Amino acid sequence: MITRLPNSHVLIATVLLTAIVAIPSFQAAAQDASVEKGTIRVTLLGIGAGPRGGQFDIQRPVGLQTSTLVEIEARAFLFDAGRGVLEQISKLGGAYFAKVDRVYLTHLHGDHNIGLPDLWLTPIRVPEGGRSVPLQVFGPAGTEEMARHIASAFEYNLFYNGNSSAASALIGNDVRQGIIYEADGITITAFDVDHSPANIASEDRVDYPALGFRVDYAGHSVAISGDTRFSENLIHYSEGVDVLIHEVGGGAGGGGAGMGAMGAMGAMGASGRGGHHTSILEAGEIFNRVQPELAVYSHFSRGTNQRLIDQTRSVYDGALLVGTEMTVITIGSSVEVIPGSDDPSTAVQPATGAR
Ligand SMILES: [Zn+2]
Repeated sequence: MITRLPNSHVLIATVLLTAIVAIPSFQAAAQDASVEKGTIRVTLLGIGAGPRGGQFDIQRPVGLQTSTLVEIEARAFLFDAGRGVLEQISKLGGAYFAKVDRVYLTHLHGDHNIGLPDLWLTPIRVPEGGRSVPLQVFGPAGTEEMARHIASAFEYNLFYNGNSSAASALIGNDVRQGIIYEADGITITAFDVDHSPANIASEDRVDYPALGFRVDYAGHSVAISGDTRFSENLIHYSEGVDVLIHEVGGGAGGGGAGMGAMGAMGAMGASGRGGHHTSILEAGEIFNRVQPELAVYSHFSRGTNQRLIDQTRSVYDGALLVGTEMTVITIGSSVEVIPGSDDPSTAVQPATGAR
């Protein structure tokens, strides 16, 4: 266990937890592009929800959107590519321009894919060490078509720059629930979640495909919810997972789960079971059912951290992390967290009570 302890909330986390280790230095600099064998490294590149990236502040009307990088040994798997994804990747170091060549989209909303053209085109134009293979994009039905349209939209750019190499290809792949990647002990499983609009008839929900993903490697695992209302299928596929990264509704404008698990409404839109996001109390219930080593929020509204913690705590007493940009979670013999900021609300909230 790592025990550097310069401040009090980290001390508490380290003392009370057996498996979760908070490392109190902030992830800002480049990191080693190869991850220690036997561990999964997760970097929250962006955590902002919706068109404005979780911002409801006129002073800063838009923010970074959802994107999560999962690394195993020398491989990288990027989940979603919202606004700013490439800038965030570049903070990790130049090696990542070449390393990130596979993107998994949970669904085709702009806050999850608007960074895709940048991620596709820019890393083949860096002076050295850029991506030398096509960018592969995997996602629900419609992903292949979307990738094709993006490629034709930028045809002139490729023509002008004379980019006809393999690296300049953008390849979309529609995937369905099941194992979608299996190599060298790494398994990625896609599973259906439900992000259909509120009040849609259940027989029409098939027209709104959305996926969550689970990565398994060396006896360790992480699951990513994507955008979804409360999903029994997500709970099923998350069984035994070490880290569960879940979206949560409940915007800065009030509401949220204070109104009860079945009727919560947030500023992002309806977030109860009738809506298309998960309320805070519902997320707490999901964490309770799944019992991950560490429950993580990503994809939410700015300024709601303390409310997320307080309301989740009313139903869930396990270790909880409200994500922030550039938070690094390493999943090995223990789960280690390097918060992305010094705000205490972005540090690991240790488990309370006996579990
Ligand atoms: Zn979203």
